[in-house]
Amino acid sequence: MDDQTRPALQIRTIVCQALTAGDDPTRAIVPPIHLSATFLRDADNGYSSGCVYGRPDSASVCQVEELMAALEGADAALAFGSGSAAAAAVILAFETPTHVVASEAMYWGLRSWLRSIGRYGHSVTFVDTTDPRKVEEAVRPGQTGLLWIETPSNPLWTLTDIAAMAEIAHKGDALLCVDSTVSTPVITRPIAHGADLVVHSATKYLNGHSDVVAGMLVTAAVSPFWNSIKDVRAQLGATLAPFESWLLMRGMRTLDLRVREQASTAAILARRLVEHPAVSAVLYPGLATHPGHEIALRQMKNGFGGMLSLRLKGGEAAAIAAAAKVRVWKRATSLGGVESLIEHRSSIEGSGTRCPTDLLRLSVGLEDPDDLFRDLSDALDSSARECSPFMGLSSRS
Ligand code: PLP
Repeated sequence: MDDQTRPALQIRTIVCQALTAGDDPTRAIVPPIHLSATFLRDADNGYSSGCVYGRPDSASVCQVEELMAALEGADAALAFGSGSAAAAAVILAFETPTHVVASEAMYWGLRSWLRSIGRYGHSVTFVDTTDPRKVEEAVRPGQTGLLWIETPSNPLWTLTDIAAMAEIAHKGDALLCVDSTVSTPVITRPIAHGADLVVHSATKYLNGHSDVVAGMLVTAAVSPFWNSIKDVRAQLGATLAPFESWLLMRGMRTLDLRVREQASTAAILARRLVEHPAVSAVLYPGLATHPGHEIALRQMKNGFGGMLSLRLKGGEAAAIAAAAKVRVWKRATSLGGVESLIEHRSSIEGSGTRCPTDLLRLSVGLEDPDDLFRDLSDALDSSARECSPFMGLSSRS
């Protein structure tokens, strides 16, 4: 069998072997970390290695980028010092004033960045991207250069139809960028649904161990615009550092197993928490009652992700009290690590948040599902008793 007829390898195989990145000279299975900040120039004044200077060039960075491009079915990938830096580079790469249409529901940090792009001459319209008609109305042909969506979106986990968005964006000559942090390529590969760019906070599932801050951007096709993004990254020095690149690649080796398991536990918890008397709603795309479930069935596989949110009958006080009482879950922001995190989300987003105050965001890790359920259920019971004695009594009856 030649390379043309050989079946494409599955993500699980690709990540375990990190694209077979090793070290040729020593024949080590694990690649070394290339820390050099500068590279030897050839006697003929050229740079035959392709590397000139550490701000844009590093073999360790290239290795993790190649792995990422393979996972997303992309033409190329760029690693950044954070997911936010990757997102910023996309906007900064537009050379003329550009109109951006973006999801109303998205990670609050990126929403506030997009609100500030007027200072670069750009403008933004936020719209409910779960409704393609509203997106169509918001796109201004000839002015809109970018449609930005996040699916599932933080922290309500609403679903946006990527293929429908690609059609609308392309009809208006705009690019579609998808923040796919929560899905990862194990669950959704946005390029296969028509996306032009895919961004990840690699701090989350891609690395998976809460010990690296990183971002990844991939493109369906290398283009002059992609090269501008690359220039912005080099000019700002926003490239991921070699050690973090190496750690990220090590984390990604278990991506497939982690994400499937986290999604499986999240689904178990979602189904059980729906029944909890202190809970008024469970927001999880895997539940048939979720408004985006039909879309999720179309564009998510291997599960519906490891993120869910709860809304509590007892309101904000009950949510904060429940988060205070857990022992197994850790109270912290961020998501996608092997340890389960719980967060009273509106507290961290602060003023201007669109997050309901009765909402607890859960990032499901790799612990035993029964341990996680018991711990959370006890905390919910106890906070309900404290914040609403009547509800507490009825929950025990
Ligand atoms: N996108 C999503 C969905 C996120 O949750 C985050 C961070 O929480 C980001 C982007 C920004 O990533 P980073 O924190 O790596 O800058």
